[in-house]
Amino acid sequence: MSPYDPGEDVIAVQRAPTSGAVRGTYRAFGETLRGLKTTFARIVEGTTTIQYPEEKTPVYPRFRGRHKLHRFEDTGLEKCVGCSLCAAACPADCIRVVAAENTPEHRISAGERYAAVYEINLSRCIFCGYCEVACPFDAITMGHDYEMSDYSRSDLIFTKEMLLAEPIERTPLRNEGE
Ligand code: SF4
Ligand code: SF4
Repeated sequence: MSPYDPGEDVIAVQRAPTSGAVRGTYRAFGETLRGLKTTFARIVEGTTTIQYPEEKTPVYPRFRGRHKLHRFEDTGLEKCVGCSLCAAACPADCIRVVAAENTPEHRISAGERYAAVYEINLSRCIFCGYCEVACPFDAITMGHDYEMSDYSRSDLIFTKEMLLAEPIERTPLRNEGE
């Protein structure tokens, strides 16, 4: 063999990393399969069939669903004063507020002004909850209702009257620890 003939040394150098890489791939594949087996076993154990829409999926208490506008319980006046802070905080720019002045003969809210128009375009809303956080009067909160699908986009613009109304059916809540 010539002194420059690399011969078996090169073969050994080339084989070592290749076989190591193959072993590593097999090991990773085996671990992935084991992980998938565990995941599927957990899914099957924890799966329950819910007869929707007769039976609704319960949500967590802090679930952010369809918005609700609120009134004062004692006077019935609207809490919203049309300040538009919620609209300014909305990253999806999907809230429209048009304020108007209350008068002694025509009082809608407890403040100087009220929302003559309050609309949320739910087809654009990302349910981040920023509007709820921005409101200084707790006039708007995120409810638990998640059934909002419709056939046209214009029907997903919820008006003040729709947001003030109670949902027809209450969404069940999960118990603690469920
Ligand atoms: S939840 Fe977020 S995206 Fe939806 S209206 Fe409120 S601020 Fe806008
Ligand atoms: S919901 Fe709250 S933040 Fe939005 S306009 Fe009414 S009072 Fe202002």
